[in-house]
Amino acid sequence: MSATALLPEPLGFIGTCDLSGHFRGKGFPMADLAGRMRSGFGLAPTNIMMSAFGPIHATPFGTTGELVLKPVAECGALVPMGIAGTDVTLFPADLVTQEGTPWVCCPRGFLTRGLAALEAAAGLRAYATFEQEFVHTGIAERPGMPYRFDAFVEAGGFGGTLVAALRRAGLTPDSFLAENGPSQFEVTIAPTIGARAADEAVIARELTRAVAAAQGHRAIHAPMLSPDGATSGTHIHISLLDADGLAVMHDPARRLGLSHVGEAFVAGIVAHLPALVALTAPSVVSYYRLRPGKWAPTRADVGVFDRGRAIRLCASKADDPEAERRRYNMEFRVCDATASPYLALGALIHAGADGIARGLSLDPAAPSPALPASLGEALDLLETSDAVRGFLGAELAGAYVMLKCSEIAALDGLTDQEICDRYAAAY
Ligand code: GLU
Ligand code: MG
Repeated sequence: MSATALLPEPLGFIGTCDLSGHFRGKGFPMADLAGRMRSGFGLAPTNIMMSAFGPIHATPFGTTGELVLKPVAECGALVPMGIAGTDVTLFPADLVTQEGTPWVCCPRGFLTRGLAALEAAAGLRAYATFEQEFVHTGIAERPGMPYRFDAFVEAGGFGGTLVAALRRAGLTPDSFLAENGPSQFEVTIAPTIGARAADEAVIARELTRAVAAAQGHRAIHAPMLSPDGATSGTHIHISLLDADGLAVMHDPARRLGLSHVGEAFVAGIVAHLPALVALTAPSVVSYYRLRPGKWAPTRADVGVFDRGRAIRLCASKADDPEAERRRYNMEFRVCDATASPYLALGALIHAGADGIARGLSLDPAAPSPALPASLGEALDLLETSDAVRGFLGAELAGAYVMLKCSEIAALDGLTDQEICDRYAAAY
């Protein structure tokens, strides 16, 4: 009897980066791509309640209902799987109702609503990107490795392949470097307009994991591997573009270099920051990072080129004023990779748009409030903020708080190190 070699079929995967910050969905044969792009996948509302560690601990949706996971057409990205012929194409998706309208608890829909509010408030679009730090399990740590050329060279097989994978996926890789922490690296990509920026953050994170996995390792995105160790942050850079694509956040003549509209946007984020941290630093371990001496912020504050602030204004000089305006951006540092990029960027855009709509300004004399010290405290602040609950909508706010409270309960009785270990295994 002669056996024919069985060749793997190309697969697609449609998913969303959900409330827990994991990219979850369903796969299909690429032969059915056209149909899947039209019809997506059916999904129970309760799927959005899958926890950081897997199980659904609590849900307001029960076992009923049916949603559609609808792929974002222009976002397909080919994910390398290590064995020739087994690559898979990943499609970020929206969660919509049977009628095709956005579902109120869709993470990407939350961002899209924020972008619409920004457009309505000032006719502006967000131009954003995410810098993602992670620990590579396959690159040995020796003393003195941060930023060193040989650490970068040792990662070469990984870094070069990752950059190629990002480029093949339609992203523009910007930098790859050996970061401060043991075996820690960072990858950055060029900014893009609108919701696509969060799609690209999701794609970049999954490609980073996939390239490491294809080489027999892990890229761990958890914010801390030990309670006193190095921190991996996710920094979100945002600037604002007008309808003609011109950058409008900068005015060199004004305080901090912020234009009038730029200041209102930043002031909106600062005003809502303590209550929206639950969305950007959304896990128990996130709060081990937001402590003094970590190159991570502890207060809702703003500074030019200060990596200890919640918002670092990046105001690089350039010969040409237009180039200088285009470079100018705000970096939000109160975020890590346990956050869904849709929720994190969405929270910032909603808050910034609100700052513009209300004409807020920064008060240099006002003391900066401390950031919450734990996830529980952050969730209390979210629940008591009418504004942030308003951005989310009652159903999404309720589901999110329920999910995150169940995450805290699931860690009850564990030591700080055991908690770090659980997140490192999950992210
Ligand atoms: N690893 C630091 C963090 O957790 C940031 C270091 C840097 O500024 O790149 O945010
Ligand atoms: Mg960094």
